[in-house]
Amino acid sequence: MSKSSAVANNLRAAVTPRAQHPVSRKSISRAAVKVLYGLKDAGFQAHLVGGGVRDLLLGLEPKDFDVATDAHPEQIKAVFPNCRLIGRRFRLAHVRFGREIIEVATFRASHAQGSDGETLDDGRIVRDNVFGTIEEDALRRDFTANALYYNIADFSIIDYAGGIADIENKTLRMIGDPATRYREDPVRCLRAARFAAKLGFSIHPDTERPIAETGSLLREIPPARMFEEVLKLFQSGHAVASFAELRRLDLLKYLFPASDADLKAGEPGFDRLIDCALRNTDKRIAEEKPVTPAFIYAVMLWPQVQRRAETYQQSGEPPVPSIFAAADEVIARQLLSTSLPKRFSIPMREIWGMQPRLITSKGQRAVRLLAHPRFRAAYDFLCLREQAGEDLGDHPQRWTQMQESAPANEGVSEKRSGSRRRRRPRHKRGGASGNKRD
Ligand code: ATP
Ligand code: MG
Repeated sequence: MSKSSAVANNLRAAVTPRAQHPVSRKSISRAAVKVLYGLKDAGFQAHLVGGGVRDLLLGLEPKDFDVATDAHPEQIKAVFPNCRLIGRRFRLAHVRFGREIIEVATFRASHAQGSDGETLDDGRIVRDNVFGTIEEDALRRDFTANALYYNIADFSIIDYAGGIADIENKTLRMIGDPATRYREDPVRCLRAARFAAKLGFSIHPDTERPIAETGSLLREIPPARMFEEVLKLFQSGHAVASFAELRRLDLLKYLFPASDADLKAGEPGFDRLIDCALRNTDKRIAEEKPVTPAFIYAVMLWPQVQRRAETYQQSGEPPVPSIFAAADEVIARQLLSTSLPKRFSIPMREIWGMQPRLITSKGQRAVRLLAHPRFRAAYDFLCLREQAGEDLGDHPQRWTQMQESAPANEGVSEKRSGSRRRRRPRHKRGGASGNKRD
């Protein structure tokens, strides 16, 4: 791609005209195109920005399309009747077309350039609500590849940070001084791992180096935001690569501290258990099957649960109550690092709680277990343990055969048994974070 240069305000922007890049309106969702034209026709600047432009340049299918504009939130709302303003930290517009929502953000300046931002002593930005120019908006973004603007006015791509060259070289490079940018928002360390994994980019040495030191600031990030990152890392179809990158950068300890310690202590079979689970997750996503964080967390925390449960058993507690007591302790500790909504931790406990029952249940008890709402996930978990090298005798095969001989598989239907034995309110389906797996 060759570029012609243009001067925009104070900064030199590289502008790649339409004839020299592959991004076409046809590859952008119709909803996003409507928003871009709606803003343009109302006299505003309108650009597709972020992951949408990056992924189209890489020939990938974008997850979503974000729009950046010089229109202020109220002005955006005035253009689109189907628009809602959201966000406390920074007001964003959500324009809805059927099931698709296009996020529209007003150009923002970084905290350093305005008077309205606020930084803590450690450099973290806590308030970030200053409107700015397009150049300022570009430079407050994280990586150069994420800071490209597709301009609906002439279909060119505007690049203030060298993102096109970095995409061509498959390099992930932080905009500005990397250490400062990680201190402003330590989650960028996790984002570096995620984008390197997803895009197959190498992290530029200057961008990678400060992660070792600034990563520890992730301990200050609210567990709810960390959970959102776990979902993005492990449920976007690149879980195996993301996990490898997290380990390489030694960031896993901030997400799953005890699991990281188990891996470093060489817990037998644990790396295989994780690898099998994440491979399976990536495969399911590639096949557009649903996945759930309940299963990923069940795997990550399993050795701890098993260990704690053994201690309870040694002091005379039966196997299933031992597992539940252990589960409560392990979950409580994990919640200090990442949150895990109840709609996921409840099924996770059930998956664990069923493990001893899958070994001991015979006859009518076994038939009843087949109808348990969590049977399928618990059985998958049992098979995974076997795959990872645990000696579980012939129990996994026994359950495989039982399901095959169950009449029309009706016995394993979740809904049927769920309505018969429901003791708690039904869990909310779907939701913003995380999908149902089974
Ligand atoms: P994907 O949606 O494929 O995961 P994305 O690049 O669209 O990737 P988002 O998290 O959706 O990532 O964010 C959209 C854009 O907002 C990014 O491309 C980046 O420009 C900017 N951005 C998001 N989070 C940060 C952050 N923590 N610091 C700086 N810029 C950010
Ligand atoms: Mg995105």
